[in-house]
Amino acid sequence: MFGRDIGIDLGTANILVYVRGKGIVIHEPAVVAVDVNTQKICAIGEAARDMIGRTPGNIRAIRPLNEGVIADFQITEDILTFFIKKVAGRGVFRPRVMICVPSGITTVEKRAVLEAASLAGAKEVYLITEPIAAAIGCGLDIAAPSGNMVVDIGGGTTDIAVISLGGEVVSESLRIGGSHFEEGIVRYVKRVYNLAIGDRTAEDIKTSIASAFPSPDQTVTIRGRDLVTGLPATLEISSVDIYPALEEPINSIVDAIRAVLEVTPPELAADIVNKGMSLTGGGALLEGMARLIQDQTGVPVTLAEDPLSCVARGTGEILDQLDKVSPSSLVASYTKAR
Ligand code: ADP
Ligand code: MG
Repeated sequence: MFGRDIGIDLGTANILVYVRGKGIVIHEPAVVAVDVNTQKICAIGEAARDMIGRTPGNIRAIRPLNEGVIADFQITEDILTFFIKKVAGRGVFRPRVMICVPSGITTVEKRAVLEAASLAGAKEVYLITEPIAAAIGCGLDIAAPSGNMVVDIGGGTTDIAVISLGGEVVSESLRIGGSHFEEGIVRYVKRVYNLAIGDRTAEDIKTSIASAFPSPDQTVTIRGRDLVTGLPATLEISSVDIYPALEEPINSIVDAIRAVLEVTPPELAADIVNKGMSLTGGGALLEGMARLIQDQTGVPVTLAEDPLSCVARGTGEILDQLDKVSPSSLVASYTKAR
């Protein structure tokens, strides 16, 4: 049997759905394919991702949370209906839904998500910020009068927050995340090696050999199109070769973490030095990232157990702990049963 509570992590790179008592039941790329003539969605998730770079003229594959389309009410409703129906079945029950949205989204976009979720079948809908959800997903006791620090490196954004008494005391959100590492890799390989590669290849490079502590022994063979001859070509590159492509986004993230620590009230800073900070989000999996942050801040860093699903687990579990979350971290919308 299903629980009645669903947590949805509406990320810039991945959408996850967590059902209490069952765990993560959906983990799909945050991609939709839209027919530009009718503005109708023709594929969502995995199926839409496979279309990226391979669509005919009338179909466009987009990342709705990254490209502002989430303000398009119809698309947002279609996405939420797709996922809520997938786990809840048709008209069997109306779940309570907790949704985590990227911190960068606007008030209009938040409204669109809240209303779309009600129309999609939710009985009660709440929106929560990513750091609070990540903290709960990591098992931190956020309600205590004690400082907890969370850094979530997602696809399009990085969220940094110091949390105490259920709310964010200091926070910062950067529009830099894992996808910027890929963009850097694509540009760099083009400029230095005259090789055009796709985003998928760039992501393979990132997850296989890229490192904050590069070594010449870690190599990978990649395929692309030689920009001089115009023909397909292969190239072997090492993590040292590719490091310059990552340097800028890595440094921006580290600088932002240091800036947050610098304005953290002393008592909370003392708690954080004691307990360390938790690192979540897929970008935290970049090799050496946790060690680099620890070296550069002097604060112990713990990589969350499953960084990609931490926020989703948090959203599902918060519904049980609503009293612990400060109202400022929560946007709620209740709808009467229709
Ligand atoms: P969001 O919350 O924005 O949807 P996620 O937390 O799901 O983002 O993280 C997605 C990002 O993590 C992507 O940019 C992806 O390339 C990156 N990522 C996933 N696994 C790894 C890995 N092993 N090494 C480096 N980056 C990774
Ligand atoms: Mg996320």
